[in-house]
Formats: sequence, C-alpha cells, structure tokens
Amino acid sequence: MNLCVVGAGYVGLVTSACFSDLGHSVACVDIDRTRIRLLNRGKVPIFEPGLEELIARNRRQGRLKFSTTIGPAVRSSQIIFIAVGTPAKTNGEADLSQVESVARDIGRHLNGDKVIVNKSTVPVGMGDVVASIIRERRGGRHRFSVASNPEFLREGSAVWDFMNPDRIVIGAGDPKTAETVAQLFRPINASMLITDIRSAEMIKVASNAFLATKISFINEIAALCDRVGADVGEVARGVGMDKRIGAAFLSAGAGYGGSCFPKDTLAMIAVMEREGLAPRILKATVQVNTEQRKRVLEKLKEAAGPLEGRTVAVWGLAFKANTDDLREAVSVDIIRALREAGVRVRAYDPAAMPKAKALLPGIAFARDPYDAVRDADALLILTEWNQFKEADLKRVKALMRRAVIVDGRNLCDMKAVRDLGFVYRGIGRSGPA
Ligand code: NAD
Repeated sequence: MNLCVVGAGYVGLVTSACFSDLGHSVACVDIDRTRIRLLNRGKVPIFEPGLEELIARNRRQGRLKFSTTIGPAVRSSQIIFIAVGTPAKTNGEADLSQVESVARDIGRHLNGDKVIVNKSTVPVGMGDVVASIIRERRGGRHRFSVASNPEFLREGSAVWDFMNPDRIVIGAGDPKTAETVAQLFRPINASMLITDIRSAEMIKVASNAFLATKISFINEIAALCDRVGADVGEVARGVGMDKRIGAAFLSAGAGYGGSCFPKDTLAMIAVMEREGLAPRILKATVQVNTEQRKRVLEKLKEAAGPLEGRTVAVWGLAFKANTDDLREAVSVDIIRALREAGVRVRAYDPAAMPKAKALLPGIAFARDPYDAVRDADALLILTEWNQFKEADLKRVKALMRRAVIVDGRNLCDMKAVRDLGFVYRGIGRSGPA
C-alpha cells in the first residue's frame, strides 16, 4: 500500500519507519527543511533507540522517502496519516493549527478516493473539523473518508511500542474505512478496537489523563510516606500487586513531563470546561504535578542548606530516560529556579545536552556523570537513565565537595548510599535522615 505520513517528529518518523518495515511504501513529509535534509543524508534528528537502523534499512530498500513537498506524496498515496504537533496554547487549549494546515494541504491535492487518518492527539470532534476543511478545499468531487488512529507509543521505546502495542484503536465512520486502516496493521499481533471517531479520540486523551493521574496519585502518597516513615516503593509494590490497579505508573518521583501528559491534561480540562463540566480530578492531577517540582527543590534546600553561590550537579535533563526530548521536562523548571536563586548548575545527560544548550543558557554541561559532580555541594537526579543507576557512588563521593544526594527518581539504593556517608533524600522514602 502507498502511504503518506505528514510530520517527521517522534510519532511521524516512527510511524513511517515501522510501516515501511511492514512492507508499505511510505512518503514522509515535513515542512522543516533542515529535518528533511538531515533525514535524506541518513541522519535521524531525534534520539530514539533502533530508529536510525530501521530508517536506514527501509530507505536502502526504497520503501521510505522523505520530502518537504506534500502534493506528490498525497497524490500517490491511498492512505494519509496526520502526525503533526498539537502543543498547548497559553490558555491550555490544544493548538490545532498544524493539523488544520495539513488538512487544507490534503484537500488541495486530493485526486481520488483516499482515507485520511489522524494520529495526532486531538480534542474530541477534531475528526469532523478535518473532514470539513478537506471538503471545502478539494478541487473536484473526489471522495475521501476520515479516521482516527491514536498513537500510544512511548518515547524511548517507540519502535518496540509501535510494533508491539497493547491495543490498536481505529475510529471510523463506516466499516470500509475501518477495514482499510485495519489491514495496514495485519502483521502486528495485537488486540484491535474498532469504534467511532469521537470515541477513538476520547480513548487517547482519557488514557493519558488516567496515567497522569496515577503518577500524581502516587506522588501525593509519597508526600505522606515521607511524613509517616513509610517507603513509597514498598507501598507502590504492594498496591500494584492488585490486578485491578496494576503496577505500572506507580513510581513516585519529581513528577511527569514530556510532550504529552502536561498538554493533554490541560487540553482535556479546557474541553470539559467548554462543555460546562467541572474537571476536578484532572485539575488536582495538574496541581500535584506542579507542586512536585517545588517539593524537590525544598528537599534540596533542606538537605544541602542555603544554596546561593553553591554548585549543584544535575544528572538527567530529558523528561524521561532513553530520549533527548526536553519538552516540559522537570529539569528545565528546576534548573531555571536554581539559576534564579543564584545557584551554579553543572548538568549531564547522555542524550539531551545538545537540545538543552539552547534552552538553558548559563549552566555548565559536563562530559560525564563524574565530571558533573566535581566539587559540587549537592547532586540532584532528575532522569532515570541506567547509566546513573550503575554509577560508582564511592567515586562520586570522593569528587563532591559535600556528599548530598537528592534523588528525584528514587534510583539509588538508599541504605547503600547512606552507608557511604551521603545525606540522602528520595521521594517518599527518605525515612529518618
Ligand atoms: P513533533 O513536534 O516531534 O513533530 C511534529 C512534526 O510535524 C514536526 O517535525 C513539524 O515540523 C511537523 N509539521 C508541523 N506542521 C506541519 C505541516 N503543516 N506539514 C508537515 N509537517 C508539519 O511531535 P510528536 O511528538 O511527533 O507528536 C505528534 C502528535 O502525536 C502530537 O499530537 C502528540 O500529542 C501525539 N503523540 C505524541 C507522542 C510522543 O511520545 N511524542 C505519543 C503519542 C502521541
């Protein structure tokens, strides 16, 4: 099947690479010329395990092409995926201008019966908006149908997630459209839910809202654990053993970030308020998450004392491990707050430093985790990279000016760290200092 994927970001690139690997012929289009130039030179502009090899193999075999011109890609494809950004506007609503612009382009170039599938995360009802834009713009009487196929991949394991999803959700207005989209996924062995477009759109945002709520819930429990001397890791393990609850997304930490949960929760709040409903749970989820960043800073001040003029080493900038994505990363807010408080920051991240250099002026970037902690008055851990789990903490202690660790991801073995003589604070597991 000839496919067009519009958008060469985290979702568009992974979708293009995986569909081409499943044997489809894919034209991936993006308006970002630099990005497409890099891709056509064999370079992948994002860090995502396995993606570079997948793209190289499918380009070599002629099934995957990159371009900045949408017209030929739309005209030669039977199915067109929209995978562009839907960032938050300042009022929390989703900015849908990228999706609308792509819909106009598709309408302009429509030359036959096609299916347009929206993969971007959008507020409910966007499928109808896309259909009406295309209808207005199409030149002839060409038929088309719109479908929703929300994406559930996680950055850091995106290729694996695409090929091994928990479920594939397809929203369509008629069985033929649903079947056309469904057959693309035939080689993937996963449960498939075929439903209407609005329900498919809601499944995506409701899933993200629920996962974000699970994180804020365990972070609130962590605050209580800190007070009463319980260990949130043990609590989460015991709670998660209940099949009705499940163990995933019960890791207490510095809070959620990234390109999805923060914006998708805000967008859902905006939609609920527009509909005259009161999004009480979601507002609390967002509030707890915002406060969690402040709680980490308080722990740092409490453990290390006044910080003005001192040096804090930061391990981890990306919003999660195995990605270079800094969108809404906890590290960005926390480092900015430290800088405003007159703190010197020396940071290390295995993948996100090139992007962080533009975003966080005035901080020093280290060569490796040990270089970061040299003469530091405290170490703050903000991303759960394996490299940090495996670090030689004896060496770290010898390099630091003061042996203080604030572990925003509960990575360290608390007893071992304290036995080495560190002042240690985790999230919901600090126990008696
Ligand atoms: P991204 O910002 O990484 O990529 C979007 C790409 O679209 C950019 O390269 C941009 O240049 C391109 N673009 C914008 N307007 C365009 C246009 N008119 N024509 C062609 N290209 C255009 O975004 P992303 O992280 O890939 O997310 C895309 C969508 O998928 C969002 O709605 C997001 O919420 C959703 N989503 C993201 C993830 C994730 O983990 N990143 C997971 C599931 C769903």
